[in-house]
Amino acid sequence: MIKILSTRFEFDQYRNSLGHDSVGLVPTMGNLHEGHLSLLKQSMLENMVSVITIFVNPKQFGPSEDFDRYPRTLEEDISKISQLAIHSDKEIIVFVPKSIQEIYPENFNSVISIKGITQKLEGRFRPDHFDGVSTVVYRLFVIVAAKNAYFGQKDFQQCAVIKQMVNDLELKINIVIMPIIRNSEGLALSSRNQYLSEDERIEALTLPRTLQALELLILEEGNYDTFVAKTLSENIKWDYLEVLNAETLNLPDPFTKKLVIVGAYRLMSARLLDNRLVHKL
Ligand code: AMP
Repeated sequence: MIKILSTRFEFDQYRNSLGHDSVGLVPTMGNLHEGHLSLLKQSMLENMVSVITIFVNPKQFGPSEDFDRYPRTLEEDISKISQLAIHSDKEIIVFVPKSIQEIYPENFNSVISIKGITQKLEGRFRPDHFDGVSTVVYRLFVIVAAKNAYFGQKDFQQCAVIKQMVNDLELKINIVIMPIIRNSEGLALSSRNQYLSEDERIEALTLPRTLQALELLILEEGNYDTFVAKTLSENIKWDYLEVLNAETLNLPDPFTKKLVIVGAYRLMSARLLDNRLVHKL
C-alpha cells in the first residue's frame, strides 16, 4: 500500500496513528533511480512501514549551484514507488512536502553544523553543503521518528557526517548504508547524470575506471602515490582523488586495513562523485 502525504499536519496525524511498528526512513531529493530504490527495498525488508521523503532541500545548494534546475519528476517517482508496493504487503509513505515551510517553519532559525570531517573533500568545494544536509536530515529524523534510516555509500562523506551527527547528538536511530548502484558500464547512478550528453557519459567512465585501477594497485600493494600524482596531472581537472582511512577520512597509515578511494571532478555542467571501499588483507 502506498500513501502520499504533503503536509506536516497530515504526516503527524498519520505518524501518531502508527502503533509500535518499526518505521524506516529513506531521505531523497526525488528523480528516483535504482540507487534510491535499493534503499527503499532494503527499508521494506527491515520495517513494517517505510517513509520515503522527496524534498529538494534548498539549504544544501550553494548560491551558484543547480537548485532551480534540479530534476523534479514527481509523477514518475510515484509510479516507480507504486511498482514496488504492488509486490509487497508492506506500507510505503511518500512524504513530499508541498512547501519548504513544511520542513522549516517560518521562524526556523537553527543549523546543525558538524565540524572536522565536513571541512575536507566536498566541503572544500561546497562550503555550506553539509550544514544543509545535516540540518535537513536532523529535521527528517525528528519528524519521521524512524527506527532505521537508509543512505547510499555513493555519498560517502555524507554518510560519515550523518554517522557523526547521530553519535555526537546521541540520536536514537540506526543508520544503514547501502552499496553504490552503477549502470552496466560502471558509472554510479546519479540524478545529475542527466545533465550529461551521450559523449559526456562515456567520458564520465574515466572516474569509476580510475578508482578501480587504484583499487587494484592498493590490493597488489603497489605504490599508488605515483599513480595518484600522475592521474591528477593529466588533462581532467580533478577536485580531488584521494585514498583515505574509511573510518576517519584522514590519511591512512601503513596499517590501515579499511580504505576508501574518493574522487570528484566537474564534467561540463555535472559534478561527478564516486568512491570505492578497499579492505586490505
Ligand atoms: P539524493 O536524492 O541524491 O539526495 O539521494 C538520496 C539517497 O540515495 C542518498 O542516501 C544517496 O546516497 C542515495 N543514492 C544516490 N545515488 C545512489 C546510487 N547510485 N547507489 C546507491 N544509493 C544512491
